[in-house]
Amino acid sequence: MLKPERYRHFVDYFSKHQPNPVTELHYSSPFQLLIAVILSAQCTDKRINQVTPPLFEQFPTPDALAAALPEEVFNYIRSVSYPNNKAKHLVGMAKMLVEVFKSEVPSDINDLQKLPGVGRKTANVIASVVFDLPAIAVDTHVFRVANRIGLTTNARTPLAVEKQLTEYLPKETLGIAHHWLILHGRYICVARSPKCEICPINWFCKYYERSHTEAALLKAESLKTKKARDLKKKKQLNIISRELKKRSVDKDI
Ligand code: SF4
Repeated sequence: MLKPERYRHFVDYFSKHQPNPVTELHYSSPFQLLIAVILSAQCTDKRINQVTPPLFEQFPTPDALAAALPEEVFNYIRSVSYPNNKAKHLVGMAKMLVEVFKSEVPSDINDLQKLPGVGRKTANVIASVVFDLPAIAVDTHVFRVANRIGLTTNARTPLAVEKQLTEYLPKETLGIAHHWLILHGRYICVARSPKCEICPINWFCKYYERSHTEAALLKAESLKTKKARDLKKKKQLNIISRELKKRSVDKDI
């Protein structure tokens, strides 16, 4: 199957079956989403959703968070991964929002990346989710699933994956495709043992096609070996029976 065809099936399938996927992070403003996405690096959305309600309540605005000490913020986020660094990033991010961006979350991907704790992935999430811009954030799920399905070829970095997805996906689906790939990676195309047998898109997945071709080849090879073994056994039995017959004839004589 050629790549454009695979992309077509991908977009068709998910547009039909998951027309409105959304992030599983809880938030009610761009500022809150920015905090949640920064916190979610190397951590689960479930854990982030547990810590953010009191954090949002205590620091409802960029100004409130900018005035806090990282140690204060740390107390609210101690159960997430890398709490020390993330506390510093959150306060630094809020300070820059106040000082440089008039306490507003910027929409430009380059501006977003100037904020402490905000890399390309986070910037793309904010740009696509909050500002509806054609951007696709590549996290570990997107990276793995796009590669397995065969949407990317030899893409060894998140940026390479982002470039290939951006090249082939229709512009208007870029933001939504991020959620399709994340959710599929979270629940079906899981990292260690993808649930290929129950996967609804296995019929156009490159990984599935390859693993099944390999499995079929292995099966054919093992059948061939078994046949050769059976034939050899049969030949040996024939030799033995001929020998026994010959001996009994010799005896009779
Ligand atoms: S068939 Fe398997 S590898 Fe392909 S997308 Fe589905 S779960 Fe992932």
